[in-house]
Amino acid sequence: MSTHYWCHGTNCHKSHTTDRVRGSKGSKVLRTRKVKQNEWNQNSFFKYFCSNGCYNDFANANIERIRLLAPRNEPLETPIDDPKKVKHESDYTYSDGTRHTWTTTEIKERVDNTAE
Ligand SMILES: [Zn+2]
Repeated sequence: MSTHYWCHGTNCHKSHTTDRVRGSKGSKVLRTRKVKQNEWNQNSFFKYFCSNGCYNDFANANIERIRLLAPRNEPLETPIDDPKKVKHESDYTYSDGTRHTWTTTEIKERVDNTAE
């Protein structure tokens, strides 16, 4: 396993930060950042990108090719039970003696009992 990757951001080498400045006097450059490999980034895109901005630049530049890896021509669906309206009442009482109430909608994923 590599100890680092070069950041895959398409504009990483154009950001004006001092940590990217390399080269000798008179021939300085802004260089793509190295991304050290560690436990924190091993299972995320941060393995290949130094920042969210670099990830976004890459994704925006390559979005059509990325989409073609897993095209979605149909929506996905998660089976749910019929949503239930649940009325809540707080301990707060208004000056007219009524309680503060609100309603939420409870949505639960359907449990499949047919699987063995
Ligand atoms: Zn970068």
